[in-house]
Amino acid sequence: MPMEAQLKKLRQMLEKECQLNQELQNQNTELKQQLEQKERLLQILQGQLDELDCAPQRHSNEMPEVRQSRAAVMARERVPEVLEITANRVNKTASEKAQIVKAIGKNDFLRRLDEEQISMMVDLMKVMDCRPGEDIIREGTEGDSMYIVFEGELRVTQSGRDLRTLSPGDVFGELAILYNCKRTASVKAITAVQLWCIERQTYRSIMTNKSKKKREQLMCFLKTSRTLKALNDVQLSKIIDSMEEVKFQNNEVIVREGAEGNTFYIILKGEVLVTKKVNGQQKIIRKMSEGEHFGELALIRDILRTATCTAVGAVTCFSIDKEVFEETIPFESLELHDEVDLLEDDVKPEKVGPETSLKLKDLVPVLYQEGSHQGDPVTLGVGGFGKVELVTTLQHRTYFAMKKISKQHIVAKKQEAHILLERKILQAIQCDFIVRLHAAFKDSRYIYMIMEFCPGGEIWTKLKQARRFEENISVFITACVVEAFAYLHNKGILYRDLKPENLMLDSKGYVKLVDFGFAKELSRGEKTYSFCGTPEYIPPEIIQNHGHDFAADFWSLGILIYELLVGSPPFSSSDPQKIYAKILDGVLNFPSYMGEGAKSLISKLCRPRPGQRLGNTKNGIKDVRHHRWFHSINWHKLRMGQLEAPTIRLIRKGPCYINFDRFPYDKTQADEEFSGWDCDF
Ligand code: ATP
Ligand code: MG
Repeated sequence: MPMEAQLKKLRQMLEKECQLNQELQNQNTELKQQLEQKERLLQILQGQLDELDCAPQRHSNEMPEVRQSRAAVMARERVPEVLEITANRVNKTASEKAQIVKAIGKNDFLRRLDEEQISMMVDLMKVMDCRPGEDIIREGTEGDSMYIVFEGELRVTQSGRDLRTLSPGDVFGELAILYNCKRTASVKAITAVQLWCIERQTYRSIMTNKSKKKREQLMCFLKTSRTLKALNDVQLSKIIDSMEEVKFQNNEVIVREGAEGNTFYIILKGEVLVTKKVNGQQKIIRKMSEGEHFGELALIRDILRTATCTAVGAVTCFSIDKEVFEETIPFESLELHDEVDLLEDDVKPEKVGPETSLKLKDLVPVLYQEGSHQGDPVTLGVGGFGKVELVTTLQHRTYFAMKKISKQHIVAKKQEAHILLERKILQAIQCDFIVRLHAAFKDSRYIYMIMEFCPGGEIWTKLKQARRFEENISVFITACVVEAFAYLHNKGILYRDLKPENLMLDSKGYVKLVDFGFAKELSRGEKTYSFCGTPEYIPPEIIQNHGHDFAADFWSLGILIYELLVGSPPFSSSDPQKIYAKILDGVLNFPSYMGEGAKSLISKLCRPRPGQRLGNTKNGIKDVRHHRWFHSINWHKLRMGQLEAPTIRLIRKGPCYINFDRFPYDKTQADEEFSGWDCDF
């Protein structure tokens, strides 16, 4: 019976399918289990690695047992405007060059610098001859050069202990090309030695000037595009920040006629052949070279490519995709003002307290009332340049945090301009998310900044106690920082030193930014080139000397969110070079407990290209506020101080200094200083 036979056949097929399905499902479960097991293993390994990496390292210049916060770093010297590359170039044979390149390639940090930077370094290295027994670098001194061993052997020692021997091809002292840092070991020549060496000042000047020139050149290139020529310099500069370098090999097709196009290219190096099909034959239209561009229509319209572009020899282009372009332009700078203006209208008039007539002689130190430091003045914090003490006025019983910095130290470290700027910037700021400066004084030994006291202590201390914060606490802390950044950026101020150590809690649990030591005034479209920040928080463009701007703050915001949620930043190591190598790699590993919203926000803030970072795209900081991770935040209420702060749980009750680490009192007085740099202070 055909009907019955058919039915039977169908049933058999169905059964077979069911069986197959079951098998697949079993396989699936097995795979899933394997995956979970692998993930667990990975987590354990990561944990072990983190522990190894983050094992606290004591630096000799750090304060007592109570804490080990991270010091900010800075290349202090100014970069000269013109430093000729040709004048500094040292001729080398091909084999010498190859040897240097090989040495750089073996070095974990240096090999991550871009090709151009490496080739510059090779060009600029000088020869240095050393006798046996000669000291090349001394532990504890400040370094300004990096070296590659060309010939001979050297010994590395630390506190008198032998660490290792260096031989040809080894690199040492490389951190010094980024900024001045204390050498952590000594290096002595064992035999007669020949070294290649390069000084930081040479390296930085050339990198910086080269980056500047490259930007200027790219600007000119972009201005030749008909589509883009209506844009102003700020907008063009934004586009450059979003563009990425792409390389093509000989004969590689970059765009194909008839294919959908969504990328715009500028040729940086090499030549590109443009061809078109005419009557079934490929016809050469023309050859394009450096500075010319193609594919611009793809940025504004959905189009099919009208010609084919092929690389002739090796070609390097700078490119941008339509989606990224749309995110970048039109950059309505007005948008940045909206909510902040609203904030300023709403804010209550500035409180004019009794402190406006503050005098230095009226301020008295607050003393520890118990414990081993009883009777000593309370020190709230110790930073790179001085300390912060808790003081009060006899009449008003108001507390202030007094930042006290040795003038001699400032002069010795050439920080005069920075301190004047820190004061100027802080004085001009009136924002509830930034610590208020009430007065500033000086005497023959110190300069003093009298600030509003934040009794809740540092977020850093709280984070170490809690190990990591719950999501709602992290969201609240970050939201306060976003408001502070909105205010600062709108005023054209770049912050550059975000980290939990610089965030303080007020009595309501609201967060305030302190420490404006690295803040900088910058106009839109402008770049600045100094190397500064705290290693874990430094964005790739600063490490690479490419020039940076407000986008650097958004990068650090991403790092902060990660650190608050995880307890340690995403790129960390006890060795700063390893940190920089990780930052340049840019691989973010999220622990499994981190929520999707946080992962998405961090990834968007920590994009390697500054122009693509959330906060720095066309809607500005609005995009950050509107991200789903902040869905629970009512931004208006936050600005009005009407949100209940979940951070209030972190604040301990007791004497006014209870939320701070304790520091032994340092009685030594700084030397006097009379050069007069502080006459305007
Ligand atoms: P720099 O990084 O410019 O060298 P610094 O790190 O020495 O500065 P700050 O970061 O301003 O100085 O202050 C050091 C520490 O002092 C802070 O981390 C904090 O613990 C404490 N502190 C600073 N300002 C206040 C304040 N307004 N209220 C309470 N504590 C404060
Ligand atoms: Mg600080």
